[in-house]
Amino acid sequence: MKKLYSIFLLLFCTLTVSAIPVTNSQLTKAFKALEFDIPIRVLLDEKPLAQVTWKIASPTYFVIFAPHQKTKTIFQAAKLTITAQKNSFVINGKKVEGDHLFILPLHGPMSFQGDAFDGVFALTLSQGKGYLVNHLDIEDYVLSVLPYESWPGWPDETQKALCISVRSYGIAKVLEQRKKHEKKGHAVPYDIKNTNVHQNYRGVLKSAPYRKIVEETRGVVLAHDNKPILAMFDICCGGVVPSLKKGIHFSKAPYLERTYPCYFCKDYKFYRWERRLHFDHIEKELKKEFPHMGALKDIKVGSYDAAGVAQDIKFKGMREWYSLPASKFRSPFIKDVYSLAFDFKRNGRSLTLRGKGHGHHMGLCQRGAYQMALKGWNHRNILKFYYPNTTFMRLKKK
Ligand SMILES: [Zn+2]
Repeated sequence: MKKLYSIFLLLFCTLTVSAIPVTNSQLTKAFKALEFDIPIRVLLDEKPLAQVTWKIASPTYFVIFAPHQKTKTIFQAAKLTITAQKNSFVINGKKVEGDHLFILPLHGPMSFQGDAFDGVFALTLSQGKGYLVNHLDIEDYVLSVLPYESWPGWPDETQKALCISVRSYGIAKVLEQRKKHEKKGHAVPYDIKNTNVHQNYRGVLKSAPYRKIVEETRGVVLAHDNKPILAMFDICCGGVVPSLKKGIHFSKAPYLERTYPCYFCKDYKFYRWERRLHFDHIEKELKKEFPHMGALKDIKVGSYDAAGVAQDIKFKGMREWYSLPASKFRSPFIKDVYSLAFDFKRNGRSLTLRGKGHGHHMGLCQRGAYQMALKGWNHRNILKFYYPNTTFMRLKKK
């Protein structure tokens, strides 16, 4: 990966504010934070301009670098309060020109909302919105994501399989955005979100056992057709063989088209589950979407896909039947309804849901991968089981 901004550029920057003595070697060190082996850009926050208020802390000073204006501003403060205007940011009450700025700590790490972060922060204004994005090296990212997607004490071979999945997914998102950018499509100023929409990430979360796993698989990704794959995974597949899903077509992602079931997760508590929802509770949630529906009279699954995953829910109010995508129906009950592979059984004004698995049933099954490693499978074979038609590749910094 090319170095983003060289020291050469640093020499030609205009030092706009420097009320404090900061040595050239300190500045050089701060700018080194922009040199990544293989960077990933993780979205931390996204807001309409008027609502932007970000507070960022660091042990000492900050350098704010505006790459387009080629200016840098030094803030002698341990905290920054940032708001946004149309083409500029206001940082600690001072206007800083530019719709794309980097925040470099003189002595890292920086923190945001109580979490510490490797790398640098980027502030971007685009289409009426402000974006706060963390740029960091992919290996630091993987090391901080893995603890969220794994479990301490799990076998190394499970951890390695998860680690390679996390890295593959991250790199696939990086390439997806880069392609959009090159085609001048609708590129956003980040590669990946920091929530379970993509992968959970809350900054530096490093521990020695995970570091060993990341080091031992450094740079390794799963690929299909020589491209890193969007290696999705869920908690427990429940024995469901994946089928076509909205937005996911096996013609584009043949590595998710597993034709055989995973039963390795069958002893996990959510392999089969049952939950009861009362009509009053369901009605209250449905009325947020359909305020004029009246009392809930009946409810059923409208349709399933070939895997047995509910696609839409039909329900009857006072007068008529309504329909709602199953994922939307599930969202207020996400803590009780573990997946969409369920059926309903009505009993008076309560509904018993009987379901399979926990998650979306696509890609690697974490509980299955855990049991496979206990049975002696190595990480490569675990990954091959869940992602058919894939090969292993090693990333190289360019
Ligand atoms: Zn499974």
